[in-house]
Amino acid sequence: VTAYLLERAWVDGAVHDDVYVEIDGVRFSAVELVGGSLNMSGLGSADKFRFPRSTGEISRLPGLTIPGLANCHSHAFHRALRGRTQRERGTFWTWREQMYAVAERLDPDSYLALATATYREMVAAGITSVGEFHYLHHQADGSPYDDANAMGHALVEAATQAGLRIRLLDTCYLSSGFGEPPEGVQRRFSDGTADAWADRVRDLGDDAGAAIHSVRAVPDDELATVVEASRGRPLHVHLSEQTKENDDCVAAYGATPTQLLADHGVLGPLTSAVHATHLTDDDIAHLGGTHTYACFCPTTERDLGDGVGPSRLLHDGGSPLTLGSDSHAVVDLFEEMRAVELDERLATRSRGHWSAAELLEAATSNGHRSLGYDDAGRIAVGARADLVTLDTTTPRTAGTGRDEHTAVFSASAADVAQVVVDGRVVFRRGDEEGIGRELAAAVERLYP
Ligand SMILES: [Zn+2]
Repeated sequence: VTAYLLERAWVDGAVHDDVYVEIDGVRFSAVELVGGSLNMSGLGSADKFRFPRSTGEISRLPGLTIPGLANCHSHAFHRALRGRTQRERGTFWTWREQMYAVAERLDPDSYLALATATYREMVAAGITSVGEFHYLHHQADGSPYDDANAMGHALVEAATQAGLRIRLLDTCYLSSGFGEPPEGVQRRFSDGTADAWADRVRDLGDDAGAAIHSVRAVPDDELATVVEASRGRPLHVHLSEQTKENDDCVAAYGATPTQLLADHGVLGPLTSAVHATHLTDDDIAHLGGTHTYACFCPTTERDLGDGVGPSRLLHDGGSPLTLGSDSHAVVDLFEEMRAVELDERLATRSRGHWSAAELLEAATSNGHRSLGYDDAGRIAVGARADLVTLDTTTPRTAGTGRDEHTAVFSASAADVAQVVVDGRVVFRRGDEEGIGRELAAAVERLYP
């Protein structure tokens, strides 16, 4: 049993002073609000509070501690594009060409190195679970590796080495566009049919979730197979990130992407619609009515010029908000949280759409639930013991009131001082230098 005294912590929807927690194995076994009545010298003798199983030292964690953050939408290899795809002017589609060029070069070894370093960057940013939307399955000519899941296994191993939980969202990707066969590097993504995809995914076991790349990449008559194979697990899908996708979908099927997914049973409370940027009122009603999560990735949507999705309308309609760093142009869920509110302000020219508490909930408990971790993202007895401690004395956070507004509207990933995942310390300030070196080595080997 490990015990911490948290100077301030987010518990039950509010920030409290002096929160005592015990961790037994991977879960919290005690969470007590001890107020100002406890001090460190009194811990050994005070009988006001019982610490039944704490035997060793009680570690004091100064600063503001929040639950673990869930990064619900990641493509780990896109980390190799940061600072490179931004050099030229271009469109979403020219960005995609540059992304494909990196995808072409990866193999299970180089992907293990890149994903491990990328996940370490996430851990350093307070991310304790990642949803990895994984479509880079096969060899360059489209034939499977000897282990058909070699790339997926590399991602799981990378998360293990970095110390965070991963929900591998193995992605079905069958066509280049509506009715077009995969071409070039896209052959690495495709299993040929949804049945073949399902056969391969079965070997990943019960821990894996699933994804439909998009309505571009999975024909309508294959959608039901993916839904059936992923029953009872998280199912994620890129949705309406670009208006061109909407236009092409209407031309091909006479339906919006959301309508098409609704017609084929894709939407529901285990499904996450990623981006959900360009929606009709009917689309919003379909997503909300089925309690499909809306996973926003504002820093990527900003980088790619996607637009601003109707986050508040989706929430009010019944779609819980979650967040992802997607292309990893930025890995900072504090920035993603505030971006939801700030982007909505720009889009509507008015303020005050989201409270800090709601955004923190999106990044923690909602996000974990959407990845199938109902027992994470809260500091509560029985929950998985994740603790993300922010330094509240940095130039960014000092003088900000040290409550949830500090986390949402002031802090950055650089203010994270310590991260605990499943009871284990996986990051301490000072580790950044090594993570930087590891990232540089993993990325630079892809640009010989
Ligand atoms: Zn994505």
